[in-house]
Amino acid sequence: MNPFWYMRLNSTSQQAVESKTAAMNAEMSVQELTWKVNKLTLVNHALFELLEEKFGLTEAELMAKMTEIDLRDDHMNGRAPVATSISCEACGKTYSKRHNHCLYCGHINTSGSPF
Ligand SMILES: [Zn+2]
Repeated sequence: MNPFWYMRLNSTSQQAVESKTAAMNAEMSVQELTWKVNKLTLVNHALFELLEEKFGLTEAELMAKMTEIDLRDDHMNGRAPVATSISCEACGKTYSKRHNHCLYCGHINTSGSPF
């Protein structure tokens, strides 16, 4: 086989293997997220039934609170508003909540909202 085509075939084969691995990793991530969502749904269902039984909470009250929280960002989109930034307890600078520590001073934020 021509060396050019041989190298190109090897490169294409390698890309196919890498793509297959990436697809398998993505599928595993989706399965893990699906499992977590199902578990959280079960936990929420159980919590609501406990609140209903012990304190008389109604589904109408739950729906009203869900709507109130949903609208806190002025968008009725079925999602809770998510803060995207956080103020560092140590230096006061603002950084993305995606990071578990301050990008300016390295302080690990230990308090704040669980949400
Ligand atoms: Zn800081």
